[in-house]
Amino acid sequence: MTSDDISPIRKQYLEIKRQYPDAILFFRLGDFYETFDQDAEIAARELDIVLTSRSVAKGTRIPMAGIPHHAAENYLARLIEKGFHVAICEQIGDQPVKGIFPRQVTRVVTPGTVIEPGLLPGDANNYLTCVVLGDPIETNELPAGAFQHAGIAYVDITTGEFAVTELNNPDILAAVRAELVRLSPAEILFPDGQKLTDSLPGHLTPWTAWRFEPGRCQEVILQHFEAASLDGFGLRGMTLGMRAAGGILQYLQETQPVALKLLTSLNTYSTSEFMTLDAATRRNLELTETLRTGALKGSLLGVLDHTVTPMGKRLLVQWVSKPLLSVERINQRLDGVMLLHANGMLRAEIRSALKPLNDLERLTNRVMAGTAQPRDLVAIRATLEQLPTLRERLPENETSLSELLLNFNLCTDELQLLQSALDDEPPATLQNVGVIRPGFSAELDGVVERSRHSREWIANLENVERERTGIKSLKVGYNKVFGYYIEITHSNTNLAPAEYIRKQTLVNAERYITPEMKEYETLVLNAEERIREIETRLFRELCVSLSDTARQLLATARVLAELDVLASLAETAAHGGYIRPEVVSEDILEVEGGRHPVVEQTLSGERFVPNDISFESGERVRIITGPNMSGKSTYLRQAALITLMAQMGSFVPAAAARIGVVDRIFTRIGAQDEIHAGQSTFMVEMVETANILHHATPRSLLILDEIGRGTSTYDGVSIAWAVVEYIHNHPRLRAKTLFATHYHELTQLADLLPGVRNYNVAVSEADGKVVFLHKIVAGGADRSYGIHVGQLAGLPRPVVQRANEILHQLEASSGKAVRLSPVAARQLALFPETNPLLDEIKSMDINALSPIEALNKLYEWQRKYLEE
Ligand code: ATP
Repeated sequence: MTSDDISPIRKQYLEIKRQYPDAILFFRLGDFYETFDQDAEIAARELDIVLTSRSVAKGTRIPMAGIPHHAAENYLARLIEKGFHVAICEQIGDQPVKGIFPRQVTRVVTPGTVIEPGLLPGDANNYLTCVVLGDPIETNELPAGAFQHAGIAYVDITTGEFAVTELNNPDILAAVRAELVRLSPAEILFPDGQKLTDSLPGHLTPWTAWRFEPGRCQEVILQHFEAASLDGFGLRGMTLGMRAAGGILQYLQETQPVALKLLTSLNTYSTSEFMTLDAATRRNLELTETLRTGALKGSLLGVLDHTVTPMGKRLLVQWVSKPLLSVERINQRLDGVMLLHANGMLRAEIRSALKPLNDLERLTNRVMAGTAQPRDLVAIRATLEQLPTLRERLPENETSLSELLLNFNLCTDELQLLQSALDDEPPATLQNVGVIRPGFSAELDGVVERSRHSREWIANLENVERERTGIKSLKVGYNKVFGYYIEITHSNTNLAPAEYIRKQTLVNAERYITPEMKEYETLVLNAEERIREIETRLFRELCVSLSDTARQLLATARVLAELDVLASLAETAAHGGYIRPEVVSEDILEVEGGRHPVVEQTLSGERFVPNDISFESGERVRIITGPNMSGKSTYLRQAALITLMAQMGSFVPAAAARIGVVDRIFTRIGAQDEIHAGQSTFMVEMVETANILHHATPRSLLILDEIGRGTSTYDGVSIAWAVVEYIHNHPRLRAKTLFATHYHELTQLADLLPGVRNYNVAVSEADGKVVFLHKIVAGGADRSYGIHVGQLAGLPRPVVQRANEILHQLEASSGKAVRLSPVAARQLALFPETNPLLDEIKSMDINALSPIEALNKLYEWQRKYLEE
């Protein structure tokens, strides 16, 4: 077959297909998208559609499969889900050129570039990520402690979020994977030939490596943002990050060019800025809601939150959720809290000035999104009007607030604009007039004035015309058909001026109009519509001007939020008697007289017993034994919460605290028997433990509460023992660990491992009464008092007694498996101390009974006691 034999449309197809060899080409023919050749075979197979054929030259047929254009979304979704890319080729223009329509690929749909609501996941982000690894270093050549590098960029074209980071890590592939797991992207783009690990979350798209060349990527980024330098994006020195971001931009140019205009900024971020907290730890520590009820009250946030603005509240949630790692930044926040803590008057003034402020952040976003209503602008104006009062209260020369002051823009231009443009009390929506203040727009004022003037003119018309014509009975009226008219009785029509135009004859009167009158009438009738139109336009223009300076408004909103949070933390500290922790970079944890911020508030009547949490040098694992309900969990959690509060920049509930920043807090708390789908409680416990052992570092804080309790005692002790040994001995771990356990066997570890210490919760046993002192003291506990707790909880007395009996037997056999005395067991079951049958038998005079009486008594007892 020569090329002359091929039909023109086939030629066009082949030419386009050549440019998209890796995608399935949806080729628009009339109302169908057709696929051909191998694409048709794939489409027919994957979409379950009919495979037909089409003649492309004399005697030559090729496979073809088509889908109706209007149903394309559904078919697209199925192909994308299976990991295919689809190039959509549309007809361009209305007229064929030389017999065929010009055609062009308008976009290539890939998992990370979809925008159709039907193809997007519900409310989650749809990220396209790009990973560029640094020069490959053979792992076995890597000197100890050396880092490998990678750049990761991600974009969500449905929200415009575009960010980039660089990772440095000895195990770079694991670090890349961790960040990708966090992002959970739909698609991962990377340079062809670059070796990524398997099992990455998301569809992998290798792409020609030259696209990721540094020079090319730099140019693409600069061009896209119309910028002259990369420094403004924080990309200086981030070559890998820049290549990843540049790769994404080029990929979008190829696949989804319309999305590019949504990408208006590029943020750099660092994964090492914040403390890592996994989902289980956030839940266990009850940071923002309680475990049981999901309520704010009873959570850490519930205690800390004294904010007075919605912006402050949102920021506080962020601070609680993302504690910092930089000692400098933490201390910057602490400086702010300290200033407002020390100066109660200043704090009160700032809080009262913040209180009436509206949600400037949300309001500004509404303006930018084009959904703002007049009342929203009134709310912005009211807020801006109050800023000077707040600004005046802030001390000028306080270094702790200097950065805030620097960004505290009073937005006077915006305020002036709003004051001059917006009426004092505009209607809630643009449906009603009166939004714009008189004097703002000459055009609007003109229409309003003319409308008012016209009304007056018409109102006066009757008098004016009566006088002019001398007709006393002349009337000006209005009806829907003719509008305004002049009515003169037949007897006076001869006096009607010549310019009157007769419109209607009634039984005893004539109705007239005049051209001038009609002009005024039009003015009156159209005025309201016109005013509404102009006001809507002016309002939109106002929103556009505010959007132009939205960055300023948002920066100020951020300052307000931060002030609110600092004041809130100071307020909490003042109420709760908290102190400023000394936050340092050394590997230290020293808390004197620490308290649990939430539990201490919930105790009614009782005083919270403070406890020290000070790791000696060399101490890595602290094993805490002690009775149930004595306060072990509380102690563990308070260690985690105090550390976390310090790193978010808050004062802490303690007498003194020196805290070396920790990179992660891990918790494994066994108390809640959560029913995870398809997993036993023990399985969940082990999965979480495994995760901790894989990811903790020497700078992590581990809170392990009763590991191993979900299985049999021997298995449990063995696992707990091995876990402690592993943490203590593994050079990558050696994390500070607080380990609460019921297994007293574990206290032996302190004799075997130099970094293990035993602590227990003190109990006083005066006059046979057991009292939990909630005081953590050095040494291992010798008893559990579990049975005592059971008694407090109201277990029936026979059960408590029997439990004590068994405990003694077990203790006597020093923990070996024992066979309990069956006789004793049966006796206890049949004749518990309070058995009324026993009482009756005891009190019975047997000698006084006849045999038949005895038999009757037996019957009676049988009925009474055994059949009950
Ligand atoms: P279990 O082993 O049964 O889980 P536990 O030893 O972990 O118990 P916690 O749950 O920490 O005990 O504490 C039980 C209760 O004791 C708390 O709800 C609180 O009321 C009280 N409590 C704990 N610590 C203190 C303390 N330091 N001062 C005063 N009361 C405390």
